[in-house]
Amino acid sequence: MTRDVLPASRKAMTLARKVEILERDACCPECGEPFNGKVEYDHVVSLFGGGSDEVENITPLCPSCHKAKTKEDAKRHKKIRHNRGETGQRARREKRGKGSIPQPAVSPLSKDHPHYRKQEWPKRSFRK
Ligand SMILES: [Zn+2]
Repeated sequence: MTRDVLPASRKAMTLARKVEILERDACCPECGEPFNGKVEYDHVVSLFGGGSDEVENITPLCPSCHKAKTKEDAKRHKKIRHNRGETGQRARREKRGKGSIPQPAVSPLSKDHPHYRKQEWPKRSFRK
């Protein structure tokens, strides 16, 4: 998770902030287990996803729950990056300087095709 975050947007985890968070949650809110000296601090809404760095957005988690949550966040971040055009086929093409994805060729049956010619159908009439 840390690699997604600009260092400037993250505040230091001071003792005062840790105490404030732990006073609110004495056990892991995910599994309900008490922390046995192993507490990890997690952003409920990740900083990458637009969450704040205030104590209201930080929850203590035990290491195993934090690992699971981080894995979920990574999936979400991947999708966010894709939608921003930072990853995926389009982004890779642009990186290589190939420009936009070519459009499919015009069908010869289409009126937009350069070799299209209008065919006159034989007209039938009853009188000659
Ligand atoms: Zn837990």
